[in-house]
Amino acid sequence: MKTRVLVLGAGFGGLELSTTLSEALGDELDVTVIDKGDAFVFGYSKLDVMFGRTTPEAVRLPYRDVAKPGVRLLRETITAIDPAAKRVTTDAGVHEADVLVVALGADYDVDATPGLAEGGNEFYSVAGAERLASVIPAIAEGHVVIGVCGAPFKCPPAPSECALLLHDELVRRGVRDDCRISFVMPLSTPVPPSPETSAALLDAFAERDIEFVGGRRIASVDPARRVALLSDGSELAFDLLLAVPKHRAPQVVIGSGMTEDGYIPVDFSTLETRWPGVYAIGDCATAGVPKAGVFAEGAARVVAQAIVAQAGAGDPPGRHLGRGTCYIEFGGGRIGSVDIDFLSGPERTGTFNAPSQEQMALKKRFGASRRARWFGQA
Ligand SMILES: Cc1cc2nc3c(=O)[nH]c(=O)nc-3n(C[C@H](O)[C@H](O)[C@H](O)COP(=O)(O)OP(=O)(O)OC[C@H]3O[C@@H](n4cnc5c(N)ncnc54)[C@H](O)[C@@H]3O)c2cc1C
Repeated sequence: MKTRVLVLGAGFGGLELSTTLSEALGDELDVTVIDKGDAFVFGYSKLDVMFGRTTPEAVRLPYRDVAKPGVRLLRETITAIDPAAKRVTTDAGVHEADVLVVALGADYDVDATPGLAEGGNEFYSVAGAERLASVIPAIAEGHVVIGVCGAPFKCPPAPSECALLLHDELVRRGVRDDCRISFVMPLSTPVPPSPETSAALLDAFAERDIEFVGGRRIASVDPARRVALLSDGSELAFDLLLAVPKHRAPQVVIGSGMTEDGYIPVDFSTLETRWPGVYAIGDCATAGVPKAGVFAEGAARVVAQAIVAQAGAGDPPGRHLGRGTCYIEFGGGRIGSVDIDFLSGPERTGTFNAPSQEQMALKKRFGASRRARWFGQA
């Protein structure tokens, strides 16, 4: 009997895990990946859509292009997870596993911030970014607030990128002098583990007259008065609110009883949950790393190594080191990055790589290599 590996979610974590398993063992394993969607979209593509640099259609990577020995990708919606029995129910039936890996990402909880649905616009989903693609070209004056409603949130540098790209867009249309941009975030600096990266972003904000309001989050919104109420009790009036909603694991994960404080606790080194043979990777887990695709991938590789070792092949299982590079758009077509290391040493570190042609090429390669490995694109 082949080992049945059931992977819930075909995002960064699920795609990397199933690809690595297929590369290592091909059809010696029986790998089933379940996702409710029909395509993958890189997180950063949402900023491209929002600022009209591309279309939602152009950035979709259809799952039908995933063809890997030993891997079956099913389009089904997961409705229940029983970690003790390693049994999963979907809208199409029941799946049983020997190894279960939960990689269902994080959802947005817009209603957790009173008034946000009526008064704000989220830009963290493809639909939200698409809506804003027709709103942003119409901004001619007034106060635009970019605001984060809670931590943890995906890709901590992304709202900073949003502020810088918005500045570029308003300059390009000759209306920047008639607009004010403020950026509210719960973290005290834009990228706390990397003081150098934070300093570079704060300098970029200062040069562009973008007001940074750190250490505070958007607690609620008064749509009638167009005012954001911040967590310190202060108010910020806005004409347009671009928001990052509060995050939490998907409802089906919370309903499974696996979560604590909204996410699945795991062993930081091995990604094991408290149920034997059940792992959680990526944004749905509390794994001691930021919520970003690169860390979901790193976690996936550690779990893949454990599954391969259990099958009697490959290297002995390694531990998750929490390392990854996040690329950051600084505006003006400039791209820098930060090399994050959260788990390998006694302290979290983040090494800044200033914007350069090389960083731009590396970001391109980041996307291209995943499109090639996961989707077989040349
Ligand atoms: C604007 C923005 C910019 C970003 N930029 C970067 C970046 O530059 N670099 C980076 O590393 N990360 C970036 N990220 C973060 C990155 O996109 C996420 O951290 C990453 O996708 C997490 O991977 P994951 O596998 O945990 O979850 P996901 O990639 O979110 O995948 C989860 C999958 O589970 C599926 N799913 C959920 N519920 C169900 C269900 N009930 N039934 C079936 N399927 C279900 C979903 O359809 C989804 O495909 C960015 C995010 C945003 C929003």
